[in-house]
Amino acid sequence: MGKPQYITLNFIMYAKVIVDIAHSRVDRIFEYSCPDSLAAGSRVKVPFGGRTVDGFVIGVSRASSYPAEKLRPVSAVFDEAPAILPECLELTGLISRRYRVPQAAALRLFLPSEMRQGKVHEAYKKFAVFVTDEIKLPASAKKQSAALGYLKEVGECELAPLCEKFGRGAINSLSDKGAVEIQARKITRNPFGGLSGGGEKKTLTPAQLSALESIESSDKQIHLIHGVTGSGKTEIYLNVIDGQLRRGKTAIFLVPEISLTPQMLSQLRSRFGGAAAILHSGLSAGERFDEWWRLRSGEAKIAIGARSAVFAPLENIGAIIIDEEHDSSYISESAPRYSTFEIAEMRARYNGAKLVLGSATPSVETYVRAKDGELGLITLTERINGNPMPEIIISDMRKEVRRGNNTGFSLALREELDKTLSDGNQAIIYLNRRGYSRTVLCRDCGYVAKCENCDVTLTYHSEDNCLKCHYCGAKYRMLTACPDCGGRHVLYNGTGTQRVVADLKSLFPSARILRMDNDTVSGKDGHYKILKKFAERQADILVGTQMIAKGHDFPSVTLVGILDADMSLHFSDYRSGERTFQLITQVAGRSGRAGDKGKVVLQTYSPENYILRYAASYDYNGFFGNEIALRKATGFPPYSLICRVMVTSEDGDAALQTLKSVFFAVEDLRKAAPGEFIFLNKMHSPIKKIQGKIRYQVLMRLQSKAMLEKIYDIAVANSSGDCLVYVEENPVNLS
Ligand code: ADP
Ligand code: ZN
Repeated sequence: MGKPQYITLNFIMYAKVIVDIAHSRVDRIFEYSCPDSLAAGSRVKVPFGGRTVDGFVIGVSRASSYPAEKLRPVSAVFDEAPAILPECLELTGLISRRYRVPQAAALRLFLPSEMRQGKVHEAYKKFAVFVTDEIKLPASAKKQSAALGYLKEVGECELAPLCEKFGRGAINSLSDKGAVEIQARKITRNPFGGLSGGGEKKTLTPAQLSALESIESSDKQIHLIHGVTGSGKTEIYLNVIDGQLRRGKTAIFLVPEISLTPQMLSQLRSRFGGAAAILHSGLSAGERFDEWWRLRSGEAKIAIGARSAVFAPLENIGAIIIDEEHDSSYISESAPRYSTFEIAEMRARYNGAKLVLGSATPSVETYVRAKDGELGLITLTERINGNPMPEIIISDMRKEVRRGNNTGFSLALREELDKTLSDGNQAIIYLNRRGYSRTVLCRDCGYVAKCENCDVTLTYHSEDNCLKCHYCGAKYRMLTACPDCGGRHVLYNGTGTQRVVADLKSLFPSARILRMDNDTVSGKDGHYKILKKFAERQADILVGTQMIAKGHDFPSVTLVGILDADMSLHFSDYRSGERTFQLITQVAGRSGRAGDKGKVVLQTYSPENYILRYAASYDYNGFFGNEIALRKATGFPPYSLICRVMVTSEDGDAALQTLKSVFFAVEDLRKAAPGEFIFLNKMHSPIKKIQGKIRYQVLMRLQSKAMLEKIYDIAVANSSGDCLVYVEENPVNLS
């Protein structure tokens, strides 16, 4: 496997090949002659123009549309078994049509990238195996005879230590005489090999049992588990997987962030042993390759990883789990811009598998589908141990500023921290820094500048010293004073983690503090190391950004401080309310997970905001009712589709020309179907230039998906070598 095998055989079959060049010009089937042993899904080398390129066989047939003498033969075949499964070949077509990417780009999703470039191969170890001792050895060959005697006893052993003991010459002679066979065997690198624990099977609670039962017995394919943090969702997932493995099936388990994976993996490892394989970008190339082949060969049956693990090479899938389904990392932000849910649904449908989504704070779009009865809805309202949810105290930061407290820590938070530390417990301090942009917020009264047309928060752009709406492009003059109270502290960009750590050190000199953010985390298990340290109580306070928000189970944490709950409220994004609710609930869920009662201090400049109120009382239904009514009234998803056609080029004129051409084409669509368009305009993107590329966009809000395919058509037709044009649906980030 891995290295291409060159072939010379009778050419009696025809291979349909997609060359591994992701370009629309070569995005079609090329035919080659091939041996009849070649199967669809194989990776091959083929002559292409004057060179040889890699390709994927997507089908073989006995007949060709070309005369046989015109076809050139496949030059070489990679791998013992086809790398791409029949199901995945079918998905390739669906993905390529759905997201308008070349088939080669869709096929690449199904392979670890290092494997494509031929950079990694499996690791081998050599073994010596006893064959026979019925050979004639000269009396002087003492070492040979001792080695043979030893091997006869043990049967086989690794070559290296054997050579060390008896000498390489002796072993080679034995091998030459046929008494010993040297075999190269594949060995598997084992990522996170040291992890285990936490996977003991538990007796399910009645709520967990009934959840499991409704997933298994319902004829619905997709289920949403809406369960408060600590309600035992993970145990339900594990039981769903267990049930499928018993039926001889396989499973995919998706988690949002790499930092969560080791913890989840250790549970899966101790529960399922080697049947669990991990797929993620943090692994070394060799590890990834080995884990991938363990799945492909059927040795491993559970794939666990972030969104790309949805492409795992598994056959006969019985269950796909998507944990923390609300997480934005499930939408790919680079081409192909796929939605993990759509791929998971395709695979669930193909395999007749169960698709289970879980969250304490389901996304509004998923929850609507569950309420409409399209998905099975399972609700878990209690924590496993019956512990209450931690109490959330709202700190009004406007008062603190007025009181002259400029430390960034409210009095309430300082008191609670003090108490937590003197009780010997741990605390987490969370900074809300996701997709962070600068906002005009009055620190005296909490006023926030919003777009008059769109009701979303404006973002400050220093290059033009103005405020912009990211949904309609409207510009507003920068404010120097608050229009409501006249206060002069109006631009807000929060404090960084470093500053927070320094402040904490001066407030609590004896506390041991750990920091976790992009600057302190490096390497494939950087997250894991910091979290492990904290879990082992080598620190009292953990300070961090969204990386620490979810998933982790720290029994000694009894206090969570959320320093700037507002930050995400004021994103220039229609989802900002939803994101804020989710973040607060997730972070708060880290407190008081074991016996001790937890507390949360939530610092805000807008304490009366309804999102914060619902979050503080754990009222998802209240939040949802309000949010969905707002979305309906303002015409945002799920009651519309936000669609952005991006035009980027290093050449500003080319970009502008293409932008116009895209816009006029979309304008024509609108003239033909005016009811489909709620909003349409062309503009610079909020960030005008990234890595030397000028960025323009045509932004629209559509009534439905009816026009979507035509908009993709326009993007594909206008994309060229020097100007990239692509479509984003409900983009997570409008910058
Ligand atoms: P969630 O994923 O809903 O946040 P977890 O699955 O992490 O919740 O469960 C919370 C805690 O309860 C974990 O420590 C877990 O080990 C424990 N737990 C889950 N199910 C059971 C059970 N049936 N019996 C005992 N403890 C359980
Ligand atoms: Zn606007």
